[in-house]
Amino acid sequence: MTFTKRTQTLAPEGAYQVLARAGELEVQGREIMHLEIGQPDFDTPENISLKGVQAIANGYTKYRSTAGIDELRAAIAADAGRRRGLAIEPAQVLVSPGAKPNLFFPTLALVEEGDEVIYPNPGFPTYEAMIAVAGGVPIPVPLLEDRDFSFDLAAFDSLVGERTKLIVLNSPSNPTGGVIPAEDLAHIAAAAQKFDCWVLSDEIYTRIVFDGQSAPSIAALPGMAERTIIMDGFSKTYAMTGWRLGYGIMPEPLARKVQLLLTHALGSTAHFTQIAGVEALLGTQAFVEDMVAQYEARRNVIVEGLNAIPGVVCRKPQGAFYVFPNIQSTGMKSADLATLLLEEAGVALLPGTAFGAYGEGYLRLSYANSIENIREALRRMEEVLGQI
Ligand code: PLP
Repeated sequence: MTFTKRTQTLAPEGAYQVLARAGELEVQGREIMHLEIGQPDFDTPENISLKGVQAIANGYTKYRSTAGIDELRAAIAADAGRRRGLAIEPAQVLVSPGAKPNLFFPTLALVEEGDEVIYPNPGFPTYEAMIAVAGGVPIPVPLLEDRDFSFDLAAFDSLVGERTKLIVLNSPSNPTGGVIPAEDLAHIAAAAQKFDCWVLSDEIYTRIVFDGQSAPSIAALPGMAERTIIMDGFSKTYAMTGWRLGYGIMPEPLARKVQLLLTHALGSTAHFTQIAGVEALLGTQAFVEDMVAQYEARRNVIVEGLNAIPGVVCRKPQGAFYVFPNIQSTGMKSADLATLLLEEAGVALLPGTAFGAYGEGYLRLSYANSIENIREALRRMEEVLGQI
């Protein structure tokens, strides 16, 4: 069968392949430690779930306007604006089933065939997919370990230019957990203004930050709100991955165009899910605070444990729930080591290369798992790596 050029490079997400192999091993009776999947291990808070269940029982199960219900758009505008120090109008907010549509559709609306799109590598695999489908030219910029996985700014400067249409940022980052510092955002913002580019800022992990730090948004810098799309959502902050609820915040003319794409591709986001989303934003935030404290404790355990394993060096990330240890001194390729650890140690994790070529020499571990399981995974890793 022949397919279109724009779908030729599409590939599955690495996490699902590892999950499938881990499942086969489990069927054979092996006990697997799951550190591969980027999904909170917490249940959706009860107050949120109950609102959703009640909404279904009360018949909120119909089509709604594409952009989202007014209460939710207003709550998102207020909450997202307050947290970022920005004035946001509800008309700038587009609710979507999960955050991903607000990556894909703004890209489709802005990127013309042949336009260059800068994005982080290693980075979330959907960026490459959406650039390909839009017909854009992918321009990966390496993240540097010794800059806590912020952009290699020299590489960025050499790659950004007149042909750049869009710059994709992700802070805190999947897969590295890195937070882009304010100075780097200012540097990138200056280039975006000089070359008249859009910025798509994936801020889905913005509430999951540690050590009392925050992850600044490029949208809050002078002159940036009018050229930035903020993408965020409920999946990670409120452990709502399966509810499918996310949003984009963008200048109104762009929102009107992206709304048309959402209309024709997706229709609308489930009404009951949106009602649950209103509760998430307006209800108690105690769950989020507790979850972040637990992630921080786990991060400390996993970073310390990894650094105690010969051949592994791991920086302490400031956000998300991932670590990206350097395994170069084992002399093994990332993919080979990830396979060895799954097959021999029963530890499911991802090679850095699942996030792009510059991920070679690294592994990605998700610590959305109990401290007990993390300790067991570390013990097994040490055993297998000790034999190399
Ligand atoms: N952006 C990043 C960096 C992610 O890690 C994810 C989910 O893994 C998403 C976007 C997509 O979020 P959602 O599940 O709400 O579509």
